[in-house]
This record gives sequence, structure tokens and C-alpha cells, in this order.
Amino acid sequence: MTFQNTREFARELDSQDTLNHYQDEFIFPKVNDKRVIYFTGNSLGLQPKRTKAYVDEVMNDWAELAVEGHFYAQKPWWDYQERFAEPLSKIVGALPSEVTVMNTLTVNLHLLMVSFYQPKGKRYKIICEEKAFPSDQYMFQSQVHFHGYKQEDAIVEIKRREGEHNIRLEDVLAKIEEVGDELALVLIGGVNYYTGQVFDIKTITAAGQKVGAKVGWDLAHAAGNIKLELHDWNVDFAAWCSYKYMNSGPGNASGCFVHEKHHNDANLPRFAGWWGHNKERRFKMEPTFDPVHGAGGWQISNLPVLSLAPYLASVEMFAEVGMDALIAKRDHITSYLEFILHEIDKEVKGNFEVITPSNPLERASQLSVFLHGEGRSLFDYLMKNGVITDWREPNVIRLAPVPLYCSYEDMYDFGQILKQGILEK
Ligand SMILES: *Cc1c(COP(=O)(O)O)cnc(C)c1O
Repeated sequence: MTFQNTREFARELDSQDTLNHYQDEFIFPKVNDKRVIYFTGNSLGLQPKRTKAYVDEVMNDWAELAVEGHFYAQKPWWDYQERFAEPLSKIVGALPSEVTVMNTLTVNLHLLMVSFYQPKGKRYKIICEEKAFPSDQYMFQSQVHFHGYKQEDAIVEIKRREGEHNIRLEDVLAKIEEVGDELALVLIGGVNYYTGQVFDIKTITAAGQKVGAKVGWDLAHAAGNIKLELHDWNVDFAAWCSYKYMNSGPGNASGCFVHEKHHNDANLPRFAGWWGHNKERRFKMEPTFDPVHGAGGWQISNLPVLSLAPYLASVEMFAEVGMDALIAKRDHITSYLEFILHEIDKEVKGNFEVITPSNPLERASQLSVFLHGEGRSLFDYLMKNGVITDWREPNVIRLAPVPLYCSYEDMYDFGQILKQGILEK
């Protein structure tokens, strides 16, 4: 399709978009009395209107039933997490028994590393990507220290080549091969938070396992954004947060995945708690831990139901939309945004560079734009004029044209505001 940088053309695309009406399902902040163009759904998704009813339901059940709500609430609290299994497993390509929701992302990755990072003898190294999300870096450092290793030795980063913005698959595979029988764990962000690069999860997982390592994924920027087939790809474990593309609200609960092949391994170490105990016998208050055979066996505490309620609202919306429809629009609107950026760049010599891969197979709902020459003042101009983006040092804005609530006309309007911002300087 040949794109055009006109309002008419953008409106035509909106009228053909089968997900267009989902915009009305969300609450947008306003700037200057106009709803904003929201590009930061990769950081905190917008609030769906239907969410409040899910939270109110828990509040009302608590008011009316108090402790009895554990068993008699409209959605009983004691096994509230099980309502996620079916819809969430479809979003990440898993069996229902392989997913659960609990805690928050970094906490879950730590807990999963207790099970899947078991350094022994010469096999103790972790491969991750260079400039991983800071929380992941702190996690790796503290985990290797906990096991008595030095981080310079035990953490192996895959680097970008000189002058390149993205990591090459061949370099990941070569590094795995090189570390070989010293490799205990590969743990990478499935979609890089800074550049938006999507990694080939299937190929990297197979390569890591071939040399005898476990392979896990931080899917913070992947869940609800890219097509995942965690079961078929034989991923050992994964975790994600729900407040980015999954619109569950600030700091909310994390989802996690543990492959079926590990469910009956009684030798796996783990940090246990009563919510991971055999469901039928949970309230018998027995002294010996008997884990649920599934991801639920990694549960620890009874559930923060008030925070799971918005997550459930979101998961049900995703189930209704389906990842395939979402991904089709995602690719199209992302290409349109890329086109708009190039057009504006030509018109006003913006001199910006998209550092996200241009190959649609290596990117998802994010374009990271390096502003050569422009800087923070342009970002401030956008914010003042109702375009919410985010700023990353040294000179990058990240734009996530989230398919659930961004329109093609938003992309056009953004282009015009961007152009004005450059001209006014
Ligand atoms: C957002 C993000 C996190 C955040 O972790 P929390 O524990 O939810 O604060 C971790 N890792 C990556 C890659 C992220 O993008």
C-alpha cells in the first residue's frame, strides 16, 4: 500500500480498521482540553473503561461478604488467579497450566531464577543482552553474588557491533556457542525496551538448550505486543508485567510461564508458600509442601485480588480482540508512523533516525527515534502540545503506536505537531 501524509488518507485507514472502536473503550488524559496522542503504552497502558467495574465488584464483595468473599464472592478470591489461565495462555501461546499471575515482574524473575539458575562446577554463566533493562542488570548481579561468583566473570553480555543500534542474531548464537558448557542460563528481554528490537525467541531458546543451559525470557515489552508461542518454542520460563501493553494499571501484577516439562520435577529448588500448595489440601494447614503441578506451584502468598481485578479486565479484552487482529493492525500502523516520520524529516530536515529495526519481523509496536541535533526541547514541545512520548538519554524518544487505542489520524496529527515543533526552533 502506498501511504499518504494527509488527514483524508489517515481517516480512510481508520474507517477500514476493525479495531478502531476500541479507542472508545479507553480513558485518555487531556491536554489543552483535547485528548492526547498517547505513545507511551509501552510504559503504562491507558485505563480501559471496563476496569472500574471489575474493581468495584471486589470492593462490594468485600463490603458485603468480608471473609466469606474468599469462597462466595462473585469471583471467589481463593482461586481468583485461575480465571487468567485460559485467556492469558492464549496471549502468550501456552497451556493453561503453564501460566499464572502473582507478585511483580522482577520479583518473579528472581523466584524463577531460584529454580532455573543453578550454577554448578564450571556451568555458572548467564548470557544477557548489553544494556539490559536496569532492573534485570541488578537482578543478574545480585543473583551471581548470592551464589558466590564475580559479576565480571559470571555475566556475559551480548554486544552490539560498532556503529550498530541492534544486536545481531548471529552474534547471540555465536556467544552461546562460545560460552558453551560454562553456560547455565540465557535470560534476555524478548523485546528490547530501548530500541524495540524483537528477538528470535524460538531460535535462541533452542541454541541455549542445545549447549545444556536453561533459557528464560523477560517479556515486559512482549506480552500483549508480539505473537508468542512459549510452549511450542520450548521456553523454560518467562515473566512479564501487565501494566505496559496490557493496561492493568501502575505497578500491577506480573504473569509468569513455566514450561510443562518442569511441572513434575520434584528436585527443582523453589521458594515456597501456601498458595503454591496442593489446591485441594491448601486449607488443611499441613506441614509438608506439596506443590501444585503447574505454574501455580510457584505461587507463594494469597492473592492481591484488588490488583488482579484490573488485570483480569484487560486479559478478557485481549481474549476478545485476539492477538492476530492486534498484530495485523500493529504492523500497519507502525509502518504508517514510520512513513510519517520520514515524510516530516524530508519536509523540514528533522535529521532524525529510527533506530528500531526496519524489518517488520524484528520490531513490534515501538519506534525509537534518535534526534540528531534536536533534543529535549522538541520532546518538551510535543508534551506541551498533547503528544505523550518518552525521553531516554542521550537523545531518543520512544513512540509506541499501540494498536488498541491509537488511530491512523493520531499518526497524521503527530506528524503535523512534530513539524511545527521543528519549524518553531
Ligand atoms: C518495565 C520492565 C521491568 C520492570 O520491572 P518491575 O519489576 O515490574 O518494576 C523489568 N524488565 C524490563 C525489561 C522492563 O521493560
